[in-house]
Amino acid sequence: MLDGMTDVGVRDINTARRDLRPVMQRSLKRAIPCVDKGLHSGVPVTMTLRPAPAGHGVVFKRTDVDADQVNPFVDAKFDAISDTRLCSTVSNADGVSVATIEHLMAALYATGVDNVLIELDGPETPVMDGSSEPFVFLIDCAGTVDLNAPRKVVRVLKDVRVETEAGFAALSPVDELEDGLSIDLTIDFPCDVIGRQSKSVRVAEGRFAREIAKARTFGFMHEVDAMRKAGLALGGGLDNAVVIDGETILNEDGLRYRDEFVRHKILDCIGDLALCGAELVGAVRAERTGHALNNALLHALFSDPSNYEIVDAATLEAPMPQGRFLAAAE
Ligand SMILES: [Zn+2]
Repeated sequence: MLDGMTDVGVRDINTARRDLRPVMQRSLKRAIPCVDKGLHSGVPVTMTLRPAPAGHGVVFKRTDVDADQVNPFVDAKFDAISDTRLCSTVSNADGVSVATIEHLMAALYATGVDNVLIELDGPETPVMDGSSEPFVFLIDCAGTVDLNAPRKVVRVLKDVRVETEAGFAALSPVDELEDGLSIDLTIDFPCDVIGRQSKSVRVAEGRFAREIAKARTFGFMHEVDAMRKAGLALGGGLDNAVVIDGETILNEDGLRYRDEFVRHKILDCIGDLALCGAELVGAVRAERTGHALNNALLHALFSDPSNYEIVDAATLEAPMPQGRFLAAAE
């Protein structure tokens, strides 16, 4: 229903390619723009994704600020997070910020795009349809190019856990390095329309596109007034969010997946963890997590150098048996 039904053979080939972990750093073939309003600001914004060289990373550039007065560049890094109320916001030392980066970050992470300059003429990314799918489409339209430099991998070596009274998020090492990042997430909302939902995914480009990318953000009617008074969700509506009123989903077309809510929380988690600045190799288990806890998990991981190692992705992918390979790499 959600996937195209034609060219099954071609789809299979593309899907297989998309499920291989990239080992070389990746950028875009060409620049590509899009325009929409921000979810929270409600302000129209033009965003252009531009190719960038190896080692550049994911960097935002606010073109609407005076570059003679303030630094317009903001790194998409976990230690640049300045606000996690309802969305993830990054800021630089001059207070220049970009809000609601997580849906774009998830699309970049899942498509293996390490290096991109993201120009924005406003304080927030465009909301599009409230999911990552339009960003995956943009990246597909621009095309990707593998650069002549190995990708960096942050490999989890020890269990790391953060928690609040409401929930927890934990990272564990994985045996199979080529599995990359996997996420096992549970949500639990006190309303029947959502309730308790769990899902596990291995974050590969093809699986992300099929199972996660289309899942939209969601909100509750009874919270909308309070959010708007706080200057949030000003751009939110039925065209870019699943809106729940009591036990009713207000969107005419209903849900895109039966468990769209937990899938969106996985999408958010991928986007937030993408701020580690490299591919993350580990297994996430989380219950009732959110942007603050996702960010706290990365802070906990990087707080102790014995929790992780940073290696080249190419050295993880060898044709020989894994045991022999690991011995050779050490
Ligand atoms: Zn989200």
